[in-house]
Amino acid sequence: MTRKNRYLPNERQSNKAVEVGSVKIGNEAPVAVQSMTNTKTTDVQTTLKQIRILQSEGADLVRVAIPDFDSLDSFGRLCDFSPIPLIADIHFDYRLALGAIAGGASKIRINPGNIEKKKHIQEIVAAAADASIPIRVGVNSGSLPKDLHERYGPTAQAMVEACLRHVSLLESLGFQDLILSLKSSNVAETVRANEMIVECVNYPIHLGITEAGRRWRGSIKSAVGLGYLLAQGIGDTFRVSLTGDPIYEVRAAWEILKAWDLRTRGISIISCPTCGRCQVNLPNIAVKVEEQLQDIIVPMTVAIMGCEVNGPGEAKEADVGLACGQSAGLLMQDGEVISKVSEDEMIEELTALVRNHAADLKVENSKPNTDDPEN
Ligand code: SF4
Repeated sequence: MTRKNRYLPNERQSNKAVEVGSVKIGNEAPVAVQSMTNTKTTDVQTTLKQIRILQSEGADLVRVAIPDFDSLDSFGRLCDFSPIPLIADIHFDYRLALGAIAGGASKIRINPGNIEKKKHIQEIVAAAADASIPIRVGVNSGSLPKDLHERYGPTAQAMVEACLRHVSLLESLGFQDLILSLKSSNVAETVRANEMIVECVNYPIHLGITEAGRRWRGSIKSAVGLGYLLAQGIGDTFRVSLTGDPIYEVRAAWEILKAWDLRTRGISIISCPTCGRCQVNLPNIAVKVEEQLQDIIVPMTVAIMGCEVNGPGEAKEADVGLACGQSAGLLMQDGEVISKVSEDEMIEELTALVRNHAADLKVENSKPNTDDPEN
């Protein structure tokens, strides 16, 4: 495949598309955001609550671990009640994959490093084909087939060969409803592996930096690696893997997508780092405003700026802006000054203005298109 349009993220790599429940992945479909529950799968109520929270944060898909047969029972109930498609994460035991498919999984993820018997793979493939669901071949540098690990170590080359080996097996069984992932905790190896695999096959790609770490470090590693790949048009869905509450995986994923204008959602805060010129407690204002506006999903830019150097310019360009001066600031909307507010009023007035503007934009976006012949 000819690699095209580096650094032009709106030009996606051409590839096949698959359907994961109601979510299309690949080709021209928007890059889908995934996360994974970290509750006990057997605790249906808590897991379902986490799935709903992840959906409300913007997850398109959620993956659930099925480590044993008790979890399998619960997974079926989760599928019945989940508001978004669920992916079953399977390792070691092919019978768990069969059970998950029967239970309503919209996709299954298997690891070629630990389900090796052809007969077992054959059974999984037949069940997935019957249910019309895709399989993700999830190669991880930490669980490579032994011979490839011995030959290459935990490298991009080993991941690519492991992936291609498994793709060939699935294709030989007549199955092509595939998504591929090649993940390592090493950013450079992950990037190389994904660049290599898209030169070899044309399936949708799931991206991730595995075991990336806690929120701060993991988000940076993921943004560097995944952002670089997405900028080349590589990647159709991804998960930012973070240790801790998965809500931050979804938030980080959205920031990565928004940074490349691949998708839009919610408030994008533009705030200055402050310096000796700033005469208000800007960090506090930015934190409070961001916290209080988490629930807004209409795409909007909100500038929060410390002084007259860049403040008026940035505030003017944003949908809503606050340009601070000496213990007071100018509130702006669509480039026009709306009012002057004291420091005490800034958070309340700014959030109210943003909420009103978001409501207006929502109404505007929901108006029928009068050019549409169907209307
Ligand atoms: Fe400093 Fe003003 Fe720039 Fe903020 S906008 S960093 S306060 S010069």
